[in-house]
Amino acid sequence: MSDTIFGKIIRREIPADIVYEDDDLIAFKDISPQAPVHVLFVPKATIATLNDLTPGHAELVGKLFLAAAKYAKAQGFADDGYRCVINCNRHGGQTVFQLHLHLLGGAPLHGFG
Ligand code: 5GP
Repeated sequence: MSDTIFGKIIRREIPADIVYEDDDLIAFKDISPQAPVHVLFVPKATIATLNDLTPGHAELVGKLFLAAAKYAKAQGFADDGYRCVINCNRHGGQTVFQLHLHLLGGAPLHGFG
């Protein structure tokens, strides 16, 4: 399992505001939210970056996006819209080297696109 801060959250070694968990994924609120809703969806398998994905991870990546969309629907902001982001390595702004999907929403989002 990941030897990162997110691995510690998965192992319950440090606290987090966990909003979803199953055998493959965990989701918790970002400690420094960039939108009214900012949740991180994290595979439990050790995968450092997008570059480390293999075809065998295709179902897992699908589950990651499906879990984020399901959460947005359950929270009632899916129709208004939201943003999903995966940062990769230095130029992408990645700071925690365990693959994670940022779900941002709850208000109009600016500064991208
Ligand atoms: P990255 O920059 O790697 O794409 O995103 C890492 C995210 O993890 C950042 O948005 C940062 O605020 C969040 N983060 C870093 N440490 C912690 C932590 O200990 N707990 C939680 N909940 N989020 C964290």
